[in-house]
Amino acid sequence: MEGLTESEVAGFAVGAFLLGASIAAQRVDGFVAASQRRSLNMCNRCGDLRMVACSQCKGVGSVRKGGTFTFGMLEDIYESLGAETKAADLVPCSKCRSKGRLPCAECAKVR
Ligand SMILES: [Zn+2]
Ligand SMILES: [Zn+2]
Repeated sequence: MEGLTESEVAGFAVGAFLLGASIAAQRVDGFVAASQRRSLNMCNRCGDLRMVACSQCKGVGSVRKGGTFTFGMLEDIYESLGAETKAADLVPCSKCRSKGRLPCAECAKVR
């Protein structure tokens, strides 16, 4: 075995290229539009991640104290007036147990 032959070098190059291409393809999958997922037999809601962002805490994992019903516009006004949202006012989300994600309801269905 004395070094690599040209065909071996070419083989490595092709292998590296294919590896890179497959990794890139996996990343592209994350950007597939929801409308295309159905045709690809992927979950329309989560793209086969089997997880969706929690609707209650919007994926943050925590909610503001004082109930689940928030008035977005009002909060925006408060925040613009300088009333900051303190971390102490945040409590773990009870819906997702502060994970920020919930099992996908669509995937839970038998397809
Ligand atoms: Zn949550
Ligand atoms: Zn799903």
